[in-house]
Amino acid sequence: MDVYQPNKQRYDNAEYKRCGKSGLKLPLISLGLWHNFGGVDTFDCGREILRAAFDSGITHFDLANNYGPPAGSAEESFGKVMTKDFKPFRDEMIISTKAGYGMWDGPYGNWGSRKYLISSLDQSLKRMNLDYVDIFYHHRPDPETPLEETMMALDHIVRQGKALYVGISNYSADQTEKAATILKELGTPCLINQVKYSMFVRGIEDQLLATVEELGIGLIAFSPLAQGLLTDKYINGIPENSRAAKSWGFLQSHEVNSAIEKVKALNAIAESRGQSLAQMSLAWILKDPRVTSVLVGASSVKQLEDNLGALKNQVFSSAELHDIDTILRK
Ligand code: NDP
Repeated sequence: MDVYQPNKQRYDNAEYKRCGKSGLKLPLISLGLWHNFGGVDTFDCGREILRAAFDSGITHFDLANNYGPPAGSAEESFGKVMTKDFKPFRDEMIISTKAGYGMWDGPYGNWGSRKYLISSLDQSLKRMNLDYVDIFYHHRPDPETPLEETMMALDHIVRQGKALYVGISNYSADQTEKAATILKELGTPCLINQVKYSMFVRGIEDQLLATVEELGIGLIAFSPLAQGLLTDKYINGIPENSRAAKSWGFLQSHEVNSAIEKVKALNAIAESRGQSLAQMSLAWILKDPRVTSVLVGASSVKQLEDNLGALKNQVFSSAELHDIDTILRK
């Protein structure tokens, strides 16, 4: 590939939103590297997607220590793109990583101890060829480690200069409140909670959305397309190479089969709005002012471009919202 020259117009039509009450703005659509960037994937394809994302004003790239497979390889791929393409533009980027799931053998490679989090971030920085990440997350609550210890590790990491901000992921409303209170006392605000949210997974509407608003914390929605289910790709069966067809994918074919009638009905509403189902699914999340960004995955530049098209129509009539709710409740 040629020497990378980013699109000069990349910021002209891009939209950014303040993350809670912080000083940081995130793009409405961010890119995650959970799938499609591992050692099992084609490096050049991932590199093209990353370039296309940055060219379109996507400034936020989300990773975790264990993304791959194999675990660690998505950070390594990103590190290569950093070296080859992105280094001159580091200050234009928000790069996040996380620790919280199983990463290495023994008692120190999982969950939420200070030992695990600090060692894991050091490993991530090496894999990504970075001096610091912009956001470091605790990836999931740890029922055994005192929350104070986990939050003190996050605070320490910021004070070391290895992360500019810290976040939590998969924390409930109650856990978010407790974590944010401890972090505030330590003097390092909790920037953001990263949680699963889509038309198919709406648990955060019960309490968490109200809690993050009250605390002034941002919220980024992961798997906003329900891993591809909330697109038109499965309407005529499970295509080869799709996540549901892959042995390492987390989307199971029985999940596709049981949701497909709803997907078809939602697709009809999307068509009537002049949008793809992927675009409507993302716009539906973004309509909530408490959501800072949607964190999409993409296995091709075409998918990414389709997803970016969501920004062109983010308004829903009350009749459309009612029809969508009726389908989702069936
Ligand atoms: P999505 O719900 O956006 O699913 C992405 C997948 O959907 C793609 O890989 C692709 O599947 C398909 N897809 C995307 N766009 C289109 C399109 N326009 N048309 C058709 N198919 C499309 O998100 P992910 O589940 O990938 O999660 C996104 C990110 O969220 C992750 O990369 C990660 O950063 C984060 N995350 C965080 C978690 C946490 O615990 N904090 C857990 C999970 C994710 P295909 O490969 O089949 O083409």
